[in-house]
Amino acid sequence: MANYTDAVCRLCRREGQKLFLKGERCLSPKCAIERRNYPPGDHGKKTTFRRKISDFGMQLREKQKARRIYGVMERQFRRYFRDASRRKGMTGATLLSMLESRLDNVVYRLGFADSRSQARQLVRHGHFEVNGRKTNVPSYLVEVGDVVTVRASSRDKAYFKDRAQLMQSGKTPAWLAVNLPMMSGTVQAAPSREDIEIPLNEQLIVEYYSR
Ligand code: SF4
Repeated sequence: MANYTDAVCRLCRREGQKLFLKGERCLSPKCAIERRNYPPGDHGKKTTFRRKISDFGMQLREKQKARRIYGVMERQFRRYFRDASRRKGMTGATLLSMLESRLDNVVYRLGFADSRSQARQLVRHGHFEVNGRKTNVPSYLVEVGDVVTVRASSRDKAYFKDRAQLMQSGKTPAWLAVNLPMMSGTVQAAPSREDIEIPLNEQLIVEYYSR
């Protein structure tokens, strides 16, 4: 996450569910949610989700969850919401579609990284290009027809060679198409709500910002 430097597993423990922020580890018994499924902090165990949560609390938690999953800071997230509310269609679904269209998320969804934070780092380090242009901005929003490619100078790196092997057995969402020999992916359609399997109630986020 942009400025978040504490242990990311605390974020999952705060939300009481896996947010899959750490790649492989999230699927292993080492996952903090498997071992300590109570809120972080000295009193976490005592307060274990005992309190009745208000409507506002539920809206806030859902918004925080979405921010944490996509690694977006509050100000930027608010901007996404504002832009989504100006576009046609359901604001909540549009908001999620915009978050999914971030370049770091696309790199993750294509299988070039184990987690969104790793994808963000790879993008920032200049390993990708969009439509033939070096793009090192993780928040860049891809559009239908865009082609995201590992740059020629990065393809020979051990990381990407190993990645190509792993990606052979990977699953790609329907709105993206991978071209392994070219180490690239094409955006075939805008991600729809059905394409986004993340357990989020976007309506609560809309309610949070509509207060
Ligand atoms: Fe969350 Fe992954 Fe840490 Fe588990 S291992 S608590 S899913 S970030």
